[in-house]
Amino acid sequence: MTRSVHKFGGSSLSSAKRYHAVTNIILQQAALGDVVVVSAAGKTTDTLVKLWQSYRQADQQAISDVLALLSANQFELIADLLTDSYKDSALELLDAELISIGEKIASQHLQEAHLLAHGELWSARLLGLYLQQLNVAAQSFDARELLTLAQGVLQHEKNVIACGQFSATKYNVVTGFIASDEQGQTITLGRNGSDYSATLFARYICAESVSIWTDTQGVFSTDPRKVKQAIRYGKICRGQANLLARLGNPVLHAKTLTPLKDTDIKLVVRSSFDSSSAATEIVKEGFAKQKRFITNLDHYDLLKVADLHEGEVGELSRIVQHALHHFVEKDEVYLLVPAALGHQVLTLLAGRCNLVESNVSGIALVCQHGDGHQLAQSAKVILAENNVNLRFIYSHEDYCILLCEQQLDTDRLTILHDKLVSVSQELAVVVAGLGNVGTVFLEQLKEQLSRLNQLLPVKLVGLIRSEQMLFNPTGIDVQNWQAAWQTHAVSYHEAELLSHLAELDYEHKLVIDITASEQFSQLYPQFVAHNCHLICANKYAGTAPLAWYEQLQQSLKQRNLQWRYNTSVGAGLPINFALNDLQNSGDKVQRLSGVFSGTLSWLCSQYTAEVPFSELVMQAKAMGYSEPDPREDLSGRDVQRKLLILARELGLNLELDDIVLSPLMPEALSNGDWEFFVDNLALLDTYVSELAAKAALEDKVLRYVAELVLSDDKVTAQVGLQGVAKQDSLATLKPGDNIFVINSRWYQDNPLVIQGPGAGKEVTAAGVHSDLYWLCVSLAK
Ligand code: ADP
Ligand code: ASP
Ligand code: MG
Repeated sequence: MTRSVHKFGGSSLSSAKRYHAVTNIILQQAALGDVVVVSAAGKTTDTLVKLWQSYRQADQQAISDVLALLSANQFELIADLLTDSYKDSALELLDAELISIGEKIASQHLQEAHLLAHGELWSARLLGLYLQQLNVAAQSFDARELLTLAQGVLQHEKNVIACGQFSATKYNVVTGFIASDEQGQTITLGRNGSDYSATLFARYICAESVSIWTDTQGVFSTDPRKVKQAIRYGKICRGQANLLARLGNPVLHAKTLTPLKDTDIKLVVRSSFDSSSAATEIVKEGFAKQKRFITNLDHYDLLKVADLHEGEVGELSRIVQHALHHFVEKDEVYLLVPAALGHQVLTLLAGRCNLVESNVSGIALVCQHGDGHQLAQSAKVILAENNVNLRFIYSHEDYCILLCEQQLDTDRLTILHDKLVSVSQELAVVVAGLGNVGTVFLEQLKEQLSRLNQLLPVKLVGLIRSEQMLFNPTGIDVQNWQAAWQTHAVSYHEAELLSHLAELDYEHKLVIDITASEQFSQLYPQFVAHNCHLICANKYAGTAPLAWYEQLQQSLKQRNLQWRYNTSVGAGLPINFALNDLQNSGDKVQRLSGVFSGTLSWLCSQYTAEVPFSELVMQAKAMGYSEPDPREDLSGRDVQRKLLILARELGLNLELDDIVLSPLMPEALSNGDWEFFVDNLALLDTYVSELAAKAALEDKVLRYVAELVLSDDKVTAQVGLQGVAKQDSLATLKPGDNIFVINSRWYQDNPLVIQGPGAGKEVTAAGVHSDLYWLCVSLAK
């Protein structure tokens, strides 16, 4: 039986609403037999610490205030979640415990660890009862009966046996953070220690995975609450996670990774606020690129210690309940201690420790091996430029520490992040569709790459055709992509493509779809689920049913991903830009019309009464101006799709069928097969010549026109043949060109016109490059 461990931190249990969310996650993502480790709800441990301090200071007023606060918080949770006898017995137990704490305070018998344990005990009990009340098989455990340490050393054999108590048929809700010593006395595993409890239990029950559910969507390049631009990393390696934790980053406890050593247990950090969102996997060394991180150091004392013994830092951190970082600089041992604990540590190390800096703040920068020294220098310059007084600097191959007088504010952190972290990001690009346009796109990429790399390093990592693909996560040499394709392309299934995308360990990922495949476009939601930006020339996704389209847009938004499709209408012509720009400048588009199909533009412009229309159709087919079956062009579907894409760009919630479509052929021909079409070309000629004759009576010529009209209360959209005055810009259009005519509030009588080749491999490929360029610009910001 494979089991998993799920750990919910205090932030995930701070209110009844959060308990509901946690319960849903357990029911959806955990299985009976799994272990659910819980921390104290919200800030309960902080409050218990305050109670301990008030007790030590014999501050009676503070003691009763804090006790009242604890009681009120727990009472509210219980009253909101439990009913009837569940509620009564939980409140009775809570009362008894609070009375007992009060008695211990009065008799001076209060013990710190025993007191702090209450937070986790309350959470485990409440969650267990709440699940039982919902008729879910669940049992609560007190970890003090499962985890024993003797002189600070975990008794693995004993603990494994004790963990045999976990039920295989129930959810096992267990307290994090606490354990007991050989005498059965409570001990705690240090602040944030529930993460460590979770991995310990995982090791003891041979779990398959541990999920640390918290209030961020994984591990970021820096605290996402402080720096908006923080980058969420899909994967980070254990070594860097460990270093971050040792530097006091709260996202994982310093010892979390220890129990996972030499195991294949998977560790994931994910958000209990959005359980379907992306997460961060902490993988073994070498299975993820090394990344850059900034972690805050707020209010620390820097101590210099003589004769620090082996294991002493571990012992000290156990005593002060906090990760302590130490390092050696010019043969001197330094210790970084939260300022609130500085005095305690100085006392513990009395006689061989002195204070170098008191109550300083700053940052630690964790980086790729070898970059630490140079990054320290760069950070020093940036801090000086931003008027920060540096007090101390330390650098190592893998990280550096900069301590300053004042706490760094969000602006300064953002500047540091922009200049030192964002610059190390890369964009991995997968190109699907190696036909005419795709091939030219890759040829153009050879030249364009150096420009893009100045904005953001871009790596081509995948090439896809319908039957074969080539994937190289470390990068395909763009200059020799054809040779690489010929030697290494292999056949594939969709699932393989998706798993390659999932495994790509880049800060940014992009799929460029230059196929014309509807089936491929249906994979977009899965690309987005793997955090890929999208660029497409393909029109299917932009014209898919509204519900699907909106869902895709929403997922993109949730993940802060972009979708650019500039070439799906008018190839490289900047029609999408123009429409967006008008709207952004406060204008209101009232009418959009034009000739959107190069093939139909050519056919209509070339047509005169002397040449039968069908002859032009066959000519276009022979010259490759049309689709292999020209009826696809004549059907007008393609123009209808283009108009829909532009309408949606204008914020209109239209479906394809809301656009009235009149094909450029009689119904009998659109319904029949190709042979029928060829045998009955006369039907097409009569159809067109009759319409042309009618138009000529009004001194007009025929054009296949798309038209969208927006009035205050109505939208009309249609595509079809229309008679157009001979001097109209639609009539004088160069054969094969596209034209987009925009009437808006500011361009009412004299419209804004965009005109030029709306097809062709060079301009289309260049249009895709435009999308790629602007994506890089916005990611590099
Ligand atoms: P929990 O209550 O779930 O144990 P913690 O408060 O201990 O959560 O840790 C999560 C917090 O860590 C986040 O709310 C965030 O503010 C902070 N944090 C700091 N640095 C990072 C980072 N690099 N990535 C993610 N979160 C971070
Ligand atoms: N409740 C403990 C703390 O606040 C342990 C934890 O949250 O992991 O530090
Ligand atoms: Mg925590």
